[in-house]
Amino acid sequence: MRVHELAKELSIAGKDLVAKLHDLKHDVKNNPMSALTPEQVELARKTFGSPKVGSQVIPAAKPVPKPAGPSRSAAKETPISVEHKAVTDKSASLPPAPAPTPKRVITIRGSIVVKEFAEQLGLKPNQLIAELMTMNVFASINERVDLKIAQQLAEKRGFTLEHEKRVVEHKPLPKPEDKGVEPEEDRAADLVSRPPVVTFMGHVDHGKTSLLDKIRHAHVAQGEDGGITQHIGAYMVQYHDRSITFLDTPGHAAFTAMRARGANLTDIAVIVIDGVDGVMPQTREAIQHAKAADVCVMVAINKIDLRNANVDRVKRQLQQDGITPEDWGGDVICCPVSATTGDGIDHLLEMILLQADMLDLKSNPRRRAQGFVIEARLEAGMGPTANMLVTRGTLHVGDSLVCGPYLGKIKALINDQGIKVRTAGPSSAVKCLGMTNVPEPGMEFKVYADERVARSISEERMAKKRLDDISMPKRASLDDLLRKPTGPEKQYLSLVLKTDVQGSLEAIQQSLLGIKSDKVFLKVVLAGVGTITENDVLLASASNAIIIGFHVSKEDGVSGMAKREGVEIRLYSVIYELLDDVRQAMVGLLVPITKEVVIGHAEIRQVFDISKKGKIAGCMVVDGRVTSRARSRIKREEDVVYEGSVVSLKHFQNDAAEVRDGQECGIRLGDFSDYRVGDIIEFYEMENIAQQL
Ligand code: GDP
Repeated sequence: MRVHELAKELSIAGKDLVAKLHDLKHDVKNNPMSALTPEQVELARKTFGSPKVGSQVIPAAKPVPKPAGPSRSAAKETPISVEHKAVTDKSASLPPAPAPTPKRVITIRGSIVVKEFAEQLGLKPNQLIAELMTMNVFASINERVDLKIAQQLAEKRGFTLEHEKRVVEHKPLPKPEDKGVEPEEDRAADLVSRPPVVTFMGHVDHGKTSLLDKIRHAHVAQGEDGGITQHIGAYMVQYHDRSITFLDTPGHAAFTAMRARGANLTDIAVIVIDGVDGVMPQTREAIQHAKAADVCVMVAINKIDLRNANVDRVKRQLQQDGITPEDWGGDVICCPVSATTGDGIDHLLEMILLQADMLDLKSNPRRRAQGFVIEARLEAGMGPTANMLVTRGTLHVGDSLVCGPYLGKIKALINDQGIKVRTAGPSSAVKCLGMTNVPEPGMEFKVYADERVARSISEERMAKKRLDDISMPKRASLDDLLRKPTGPEKQYLSLVLKTDVQGSLEAIQQSLLGIKSDKVFLKVVLAGVGTITENDVLLASASNAIIIGFHVSKEDGVSGMAKREGVEIRLYSVIYELLDDVRQAMVGLLVPITKEVVIGHAEIRQVFDISKKGKIAGCMVVDGRVTSRARSRIKREEDVVYEGSVVSLKHFQNDAAEVRDGQECGIRLGDFSDYRVGDIIEFYEMENIAQQL
């Protein structure tokens, strides 16, 4: 029996089953496909008892069921595991458990303001302010106190702080009345399974896009309104009544750029490998990026429809790279698939869901939403739009949110099928309309209960941003890409970078940072989203820059202007080609180093005096070779007595282009005639050597 089968039977998470067996000193791999011995099965059955109520996936992007009375129905309508059910039941039917020692209770609704909080604690405001100062919190009388700090203070004085009523009567959703602060931690009872967020990564052309397309066409539920598929950076598929969110393949550089901002959106990275080509350098890179992000790694071996695809060879290569396939005793699930025929795709989806069960992904759909921006842009007729992935809670039309420093009030939510929706739950991606500015990918957003709170938080952040902008040198953001020169010989390659979406821009900038050179520095004079305009050409011309376009076109008139201004425009659709060319352009800026290469020596054995033409040195080539085009120097003992070019080189009576080691020759050098027997003539050439970055 396999881990996932028993976990299903016992209605527990696979990872809990494995953890328990580890506790019981049984060596089981943390993998849904790991086989269990009968003894382990028995033990687990005994430990976990009879089957429990299965956990339920809340299909995100669909309205969250709104219980009429939340406490009434939480357990009934949303089946959750027994442990959780027990907690819910308790909270639903019993009054809160009495504390062992009776404590005074402070109930606070909304934000905790110093003045009122002091009163409730029986303190004078200045006493509270002083106490806060000892905790390194500097707040004035009308300022808010952080919930955690307030809780600590209350505890210290023998109070229990109830910040909000956990069960709000007569409200469709338990949306607390507070002004923005929700407890960070969710109660276990509120957590329900959420769909896994999956990213396809791997070498270019190995079939990431084709696989995503195939899955999308086969499994995306058609919306009733028949919306038009939207590119929102992610989409959700339905498989066996469960959902999986696929992030559009961002390229691993973008993946890491997002992660650098703390936006680790992916739960499972599926490394796509071409069954014919096998593991390639970018496959390894993708694996490294995924591992560095500490996400669960799976492998899809693609193109198995091709005759020369060899699944075992790919597995062997993986093993050499330290990834042992699960069916070879390791813990990485490898699924052979074909994006062309669709073979193996159902199996891949099943494995993704099994893996998700192991990861026991949970989220609370009943809290205010938070999540991350996948990409954002300015759209004609819509203003700033942001494609967001909800990681926690449920996003509603009308919500006030702060994204990075920017304020937003959601005017509309559009899902991946172009359908307007009212809500978006955990793990779903939606396009949000109603932002005041275009946020950056990876920026975190959070919904606040009250528009005023959101506004004040946004204002605070904007003020801080302005301060940061002022205190930094003007081109601070560009300086990230621009390492300062340290010597006079430093060269710059200036670029104007234009891409289709903010995500690619980030990815390319991040990758450009990866081109390391001590001699040539990249200077991105402009990095922006949109088509290449005449303004871009002017800027490039003024700053002697090359224009690099990624997935963008040129506006009318741009080509002519670029020609007139002598500006080079290069368009790309493959990121690696772009990077290679930039690297080449950087190398091209380096003046080749000229280096002297000694090619041979000849010893003067005899000096001939030919009256009209002066003297000729009769030589023996003692090593290397002598050529008629070489440069030479005559060494007498330690001194160099002459330096110049070869005027005549003769082998016997004939002119020779080259005379080799062990042969005799007659040599005349420039206007020199003071040859002496025993002098050594050194021959050398000047060679141009291309510099490396
Ligand atoms: P990506 O760069 O990883 O996104 O790769 P693409 O999805 O663009 O695929 C690259 C090429 O491989 C395209 O020409 C696809 O038609 C082809 N391809 C992708 N999957 C398969 C497959 O399963 N079988 C075959 N025969 N070709 C495939």
